[in-house]
Amino acid sequence: MKPAIPEKSIETLREEHGSDVVRLSLNETSIGPSPLALEAIRRQSETVQYYPEGSSIELRRKIAQKLDIEPEMVLVSFGADNVILLIGQAFLDTGDEVILADLSFPTYLLMTRIMQAVPVKVPLKDLSNDLEAVAGRITEKTKLIFVTNPHNPTGCVTTRTEWERFLSAIPDHVVVVLDEAYFDYVVSDDYPNSIDYLNGSQPVIGLRTFSKLAGLAGARVGYAMAPPEIVGYLQRVVEPYGMCSLSQAAALASLDDEEHREKVLALNRAGREYFHHRFDEMGLTYSRSETNFVFVKVGQDAGTVYEKMRAKGVLIRPIVGWSTGDYIRISIGTPEQNERCIQVLKEALSRRQS
Ligand SMILES: *Cc1c(COP(=O)(O)O)cnc(C)c1O
Repeated sequence: MKPAIPEKSIETLREEHGSDVVRLSLNETSIGPSPLALEAIRRQSETVQYYPEGSSIELRRKIAQKLDIEPEMVLVSFGADNVILLIGQAFLDTGDEVILADLSFPTYLLMTRIMQAVPVKVPLKDLSNDLEAVAGRITEKTKLIFVTNPHNPTGCVTTRTEWERFLSAIPDHVVVVLDEAYFDYVVSDDYPNSIDYLNGSQPVIGLRTFSKLAGLAGARVGYAMAPPEIVGYLQRVVEPYGMCSLSQAAALASLDDEEHREKVLALNRAGREYFHHRFDEMGLTYSRSETNFVFVKVGQDAGTVYEKMRAKGVLIRPIVGWSTGDYIRISIGTPEQNERCIQVLKEALSRRQS
């Protein structure tokens, strides 16, 4: 295995590219978290010498109350990323199979490799999950299936009909993970909410995060929603002292700020329309994203476009080594950041320049 290479910190990027560097590569929230969350971190810091309560019960209670489920159905950890690792530790043995989309969130594959399990990759169909093909790849060795909805990096939504047909065909020995990192941004009416599938016969784990809408990516808070029995299995592999107390306080407080939530969503909606209009003008095709990012086919090598844009202080995510190699993902930022991004993208794509 090779270690994953994460993006440099925003501080380092500012040193290298200047203070106005724009990072639209990690789907962060441009305007940051709720002021209530920042205040909660300050307050909580006064008792930072004490270990936190291990099961994060206060945060789990609040999340459960918001979702109208039991706290026993919620497990909190250091980002949804770490929840994914916990799921692997709880359910996988060497040689088990994990089904995931070919082009999906990298941590699924990382976790599969760590657990010495076998990844089974299923191509996307029209930039969306092909759940029929996924169901067709199930064997006796399949233990986990990852479905991202809306999908990352394409932003496309899988409909309730597709999901329910798929779920009804899943055998008992398989756990389905429904990653809903972008749940908050969905506009479709026929979106299948994981909460509605936690009491069925099929083991389903829903995943969500405070890194996107809540703007707390640096605090690392994510959670699983699952039947109590499944949460019980995950609890066997968590560290006894659980989550960072400052992060828990921030997440708790952010749940109270409806106004901030609406503000982020409104900014995001406007930003998405802006990007899509510009793409139309530029003659570029893009996905029907229901997330805080857009996914566009630029018609030139994605890696080269990325380098050219980076040289001008705008970071986007090139999708390298997949399909035609000319797709990029751009996180939606503030109006100023979005405009600068389009400007720099146009320059990168212009023939004159290259
Ligand atoms: C961002 C993201 C996560 C991870 O979120 P963290 O809570 O920051 O670890 C998980 N899944 C998908 C699909 C994501 O895009």
